[in-house]
Amino acid sequence: MMTTTSRPFRSDNPALDNALGQLAGAVQILGYHEGIHETLATPRREINVAVPLRRDDGHVQVFRGHRVQHNVSRGPGKGGLRYHPSVDIDEVRALAMLMTWKCAVVDLPYGGAKGGIDIDPAEHSAAELERVTRRYTSEIMPLIGPTQDIMAPDMGTGEREMAWVMDTYSVNVGHTIPAVVTGKPLAIGGSRGRGTATARGIVHVADAALTHAGERIKGSRVAVQGFGKVGANAAQIFSDEGAVVTHVSDAFGAVRDDDGLDIEALLAHVAAAGSVVGFERGDAVDGASVLTADVDVLVPAAIDSVLTVDNANDVRARFVVEGANGPTTQEADTILGKNGVTIVPDILANAGGVIVSYFEWVQANQTYWWTDAEIEDRLAGRMRSAYAEVAHHAHDHDLTLRDAALVIGVQRVADAHRLRGLYP
Ligand code: NAD
Repeated sequence: MMTTTSRPFRSDNPALDNALGQLAGAVQILGYHEGIHETLATPRREINVAVPLRRDDGHVQVFRGHRVQHNVSRGPGKGGLRYHPSVDIDEVRALAMLMTWKCAVVDLPYGGAKGGIDIDPAEHSAAELERVTRRYTSEIMPLIGPTQDIMAPDMGTGEREMAWVMDTYSVNVGHTIPAVVTGKPLAIGGSRGRGTATARGIVHVADAALTHAGERIKGSRVAVQGFGKVGANAAQIFSDEGAVVTHVSDAFGAVRDDDGLDIEALLAHVAAAGSVVGFERGDAVDGASVLTADVDVLVPAAIDSVLTVDNANDVRARFVVEGANGPTTQEADTILGKNGVTIVPDILANAGGVIVSYFEWVQANQTYWWTDAEIEDRLAGRMRSAYAEVAHHAHDHDLTLRDAALVIGVQRVADAHRLRGLYP
């Protein structure tokens, strides 16, 4: 039951309000009482830190950093580190909560966490970003660790930042601890397949959803918003699988080719130019038009809250596979559902990254490295069985895929609370 309490089950921040609304929906379906609702809605631990940076020109600029462990009842916190000017504590809370359900729905022994700094990495040199990363890591040291909270890349960070986090943590502890972060470079304990894992997982569930509907990935038309670690790799893998990727955007613009963009050529262009803008083997189009493109599959793989009440009725894709975290507002979710659009929700669709992060952590703890084939097989197995479990639950209980995934995730976390009991 939706409660009428004054407790903070709503937020002014759209991303957090969305996450809290999704939780409230799952709690209602599960029939949980207010106590468990409040437990699940409340982050377990949060830390806010000032991150002073000595700029290359000598002056000092102060950023705000956050780390939120939303829930640790099933294991240590797990979640990315985001560098983006819009980062604030509420956004980090929302993303940490999503990580809790995501880890539970794909049955990883982790809770959910997230971190971020309100910095635009494009505005800073590598040396400045290294100083920011090391200072942030040392500020949150007491809270993180391989059995406490394990970081990974997110928007604006990558394996370079993870190497700095691992080094800063290890130097302070006095010996090398690779398992404190995942998404590291291969040479210092990263896992094979981690860089493309999220994208690979997206393509696995897109294929499962298409197959379920009697369709095929080969020949399907795909639009991708965002051309970073998730979007670019997803576009490449869709294309490798025979899909026709007609639209791609990034923060600066978008390109379109109805016969299918040459993704390899586009990757080479972006490597040189820094953006999809100016790609000559496609037409320049407005970034927003990618979301309403006439395609079979839409993959939002950039930022949250891009499918809203304002554009949901214009979405022509029949499948939305959420690469980004929280790209669809609750109102848009309802509209898309009414319009017959199948949404594969973020906590399932983009779980490939955290699954291979888990593999990386297991390998680091065992100091025994798996082959590409072992990673690929295990990732495919976990993604496809999680999809099948969610799809069965949705079918059996007449739920959307999102509600089914949330219900499975929330129930697993609530069960862990119940079994462990409340201390003291
Ligand atoms: P990234 O920083 O590598 O790339 C982000 C991309 O989005 C860039 O191409 C950027 O230009 C583009 N972008 C930013 N604002 C945009 C806008 N308004 N319109 C169009 N494009 C825009 O980040 P990433 O790691 O690819 O993450 C993308 C999303 O996927 C985030 O929501 C992140 O939380 C989620 N995610 C990432 C991973 C991972 O393994 N990296 C795993 C799960 C979920």
